Amino acid sequence: MVTETERDDMTWYRCDACGLLFDDPDDADRHEGHCDAEDPSYLQ
Ligand SMILES: [Zn+2]
Repeated sequence: MVTETERDDMTWYRCDACGLLFDDPDDADRHEGHCDAEDPSYLQ
């Protein structure tokens, strides 16, 4: 899923699967649709 996060006074949208950050929620949504991260090992 996509998580909204604030950093440097900006709102970012992070793909939970791979950790990529987007400044546009639509971009994040589109990315999530074809994200191929299979092993989110950084998630404990
Ligand atoms: Zn991703």
